[in-house]
Order: sequence, then structure tokens, then C-alpha cells
Amino acid sequence: MALDINKIRNDFPILKRQVHNKPFAYFDNAATTQKPNSVIDRMDKVYRETNSNIHRGVHYLSDITTRDFEAARDTVRRFINARHDHEIIFTPGTTSGINLVAFSFGERYVSEGDEIIISAMEHHANIVPWQMLCERKGARLRVIPMNDKGELLLDEFDKLFTSGTRLVSVTQVANSIGSVNPVKQIIELSHRHGVKVLIDGAQAVQHGYVDVQELDADFYVFSGHKMYGPTGIGVLYGKEEILEEMPPYQTGGEMVDNVSFEKTTFNRLPFRFEAGTPNYTGAIGLAAAIDYLEATGLDDIAAYEKDLLEYGTRQLSEIDGLHLYGRAKDKISILSFVLDDIHPFDAGMVIDKHGIAVRTGTHCAQPLMDRFGIRGTIRASLAFYNTREELDRLREAVEKTIQMFK
Ligand code: PMP
Repeated sequence: MALDINKIRNDFPILKRQVHNKPFAYFDNAATTQKPNSVIDRMDKVYRETNSNIHRGVHYLSDITTRDFEAARDTVRRFINARHDHEIIFTPGTTSGINLVAFSFGERYVSEGDEIIISAMEHHANIVPWQMLCERKGARLRVIPMNDKGELLLDEFDKLFTSGTRLVSVTQVANSIGSVNPVKQIIELSHRHGVKVLIDGAQAVQHGYVDVQELDADFYVFSGHKMYGPTGIGVLYGKEEILEEMPPYQTGGEMVDNVSFEKTTFNRLPFRFEAGTPNYTGAIGLAAAIDYLEATGLDDIAAYEKDLLEYGTRQLSEIDGLHLYGRAKDKISILSFVLDDIHPFDAGMVIDKHGIAVRTGTHCAQPLMDRFGIRGTIRASLAFYNTREELDRLREAVEKTIQMFK
């Protein structure tokens, strides 16, 4: 069934606003997505009707909020098809999830001379935590190279494994150029070498189904705010048997079992990794976002976004002096491009004056920009509330920008 785009656009109140006296066209969805009424209303309801700190209360509202928070965990579990609720750790976001693994798993299993493998198209959030871990431990970072289209070279990947490889951490979808990586194959290959894998799903979960059991991912991380949910909430999925063996990362309330000044024992999963008051309102909002995505239909969303990507690619390809980056066979709806002799930042400023939001720069993927020998791109990242008409406006705005700088 096709999407009812008018209904969808009505669900997102911000899309009705004007920017610079023009209808607002939002193409910065890879940075963060807009929120539907159902998510905004659900969080509003928490603060107006049920707000209370969770888990430790015996009173009425604390009980309701605790149950809503744990129901949200179950919604996430179902959404990514994890086996157990306690494999779902709520975090502030993707970055926090990766840091948790880098500190906890990294502290226990990585030693001097060991190696971590990442890829050439990682977001800084999936580079720097590993780099810092390597510095702390005297370990080494290895990088899976890619071709000019933005596809990882799996033959080269296979050659990177040594007896010291401790973890592979790769993105499922590249935020800068949209490549979809064959993560199932990457996981299979890594497991053949006896190495565990973390998948950065920050740009993947919102574009289609993710099944962590089918992938056999050891860790899977993502952020609520990139999937139409709130900021400040994200998820780290980890296989039960791996999480059970990992030492705590942050410590304090909630993650403990028994505390005395002599000794502390730790709580069971998932609470052991959720120190302090969790963002329960965010978690409940995230569950509302998942409900919204499922009610809309993830298959229909993916099909609609594919059509938008093809249309946008055709429109932009016809512009003289525009060069698209990221031509992977499998890619999601991201149009990343440069214009001859115009700095991406200048172009972004002019495009903004048309009421169109695009992002410019390196998109937190500086090594990828270096690989292409460019200083950055203009990125239009599309969501299922965008339209072909908005892409026509983008084309027109880009053409006017080129004219202006001539
Ligand atoms: N990984 C990828 C692929 C991303 O696109 C992003 C956000 N741009 C992150 C990690 C970091 O996510 P967050 O800022 O929500 O922690």
C-alpha cells in the first residue's frame, strides 16, 4: 500500500512552518528527524499526567511510569527482534552506546598489541572511541578500505584479521554518502575468525527492518532522534552472554544491588548498564516513534524513500557542475554532492534562503572526505515526509546558487 503523504505531512507539525517566508523543506534528516504528533503528545502526557522516577517507587505514579518504561524496552526488543528485554540497554544515543562498549568490553578484552577493525566510512562516533581505547591499551586500529563508489572492499577486509583482532565495529549505513554495507556478510566473516561485531545502526533502523538475531550482531547501537523519536535516548543491544561478562561502565544508583563502604555488588541486566535515572520520558517517546513507524509501514517507507532517492538523483545529475558522491549499489536516501568552485558552506547558506535545510561540511566523517580528496559536501538526506515537489525546489535552488556564484 502506498503512503498517504498528505496525512503523513499533517502528522509532523513542524513541516507546516515557514523559513525565510518560504515553505519549509527539511532535508537534514540524517542529522535528526522531525517528530510526529503522537511522539510529542506521548511525552507531553508523561510530564502532565504520570511523571515520577522509576523503579524505586512504591507509589501509584512511579508504578505507572516504571511499567511504561519497561513496556518501551519491550517495544524496542520486538522492533529489532532481540531475544530478551534485558538485552536492550537504554543509553543517551549511539555515541554513548559505542563508548559504553569501548570502555566496558574494551577494558576487559583488549590488550597491548591487539587490533580493532573499523571501516573507511565511519562517523567520528565510531572512530574516536576506538582510537582512544587503542591509545589506552597500546592496541592498533585497522580500517576496511572502500572503492570510489563508496562500497567496502570485503576481500581486503578478510585480510585484516590477525590473531590479535578483538572487535569489528562498522556502520550499517554511511551517514555521509548513504552506502548500505553488507553487514550480515561482515558479521559472518568476522565470526569465522572468532571476532565479535558491533553494528552502528544510527542511519539504518529508520529506513527498514532490523533483525539483530537474523544478522547475528553481537552489539547494535542506534539513536531515537534519528528515527522520529526524542533526543537524549538511544539503544545499545548486546547479546545476553556477552553483556553478562562485561564489567560496569558508569557506576552509581540504579546499577547496584548492594552497597556498603566496604563492597558493592551490581544489579542484573539491563540495569547494570543504566546508572542513574534513565531518560524514561525519552524511552516512552521512542516507543511511540516505533509504533508510528510500524503503523505507517516500514516496507512502504523504504519503497517511497527509494523512489525519492531515484528522482532526486536524476534531478541533481542533470545539473552542470554538480558532482554526486556515493554511488553504492545499495544505498539509502542521501544525496551528497559538491558544486564546482563553490564552497559547500556558501552553497548551504544560499540554499537556506530558499527555505530549504541541507547540511554542509564533513558530516563527522573527515577520513571519508580525505579518501575522496574533498573538503566536504552538501548533503540532502531525505525522509518519507519529503516530496518530489520539494526536490524540484532543491534543484531550482542549486541552479540559482550556481548562477549566483558565476
Ligand atoms: N553513527 C552514525 C552513522 C551517525 O549518523 C551518527 C549521527 N550523525 C552517529 C553515529 C552519532 O549519533 P548521536 O549523535 O545520536 O550519538
